[in-house]
Amino acid sequence: MTKAELLRDISPAIYQKLSMALVDLDESGVGYYISEGRRSLLTQCLYALQGRLDDIPQSDLADACRQARIRPPGGEKITWTLKSKHLDGIAVDIVPVRDGNVIWEYKGNEATFEVIAAIMKKHGFRWGGDWQQKDYPHYET
Ligand SMILES: [Zn+2]
Repeated sequence: MTKAELLRDISPAIYQKLSMALVDLDESGVGYYISEGRRSLLTQCLYALQGRLDDIPQSDLADACRQARIRPPGGEKITWTLKSKHLDGIAVDIVPVRDGNVIWEYKGNEATFEVIAAIMKKHGFRWGGDWQQKDYPHYET
């Protein structure tokens, strides 16, 4: 998603600090991709169903995900809550881009994750990478 799309839907509560963090990210020269900001309850429910829907045809779930404009489901659980801060528009997912490729997974040797995290933390965001249940793309206030 573009910065304009992110900022259009984000909560006014974090608009200012997020705007400033994005300026710093641009100036840092690190490549990054914004995967998600505010999330609909439909999207959150679809995320919550992923990896838990043995009786539902995967093609039906894939169709619903296409309508919700989210990535097609994988077989793994990706969320453990229906109360994500994304629903309130006070969370954002940002991942590095290197050589045109989005890097979704942090394996401890991807410095760009840490550059992005340092900038976001400087602007008052908590990083999901610091949590016990790691969520490396995730930042929230
Ligand atoms: Zn997130």
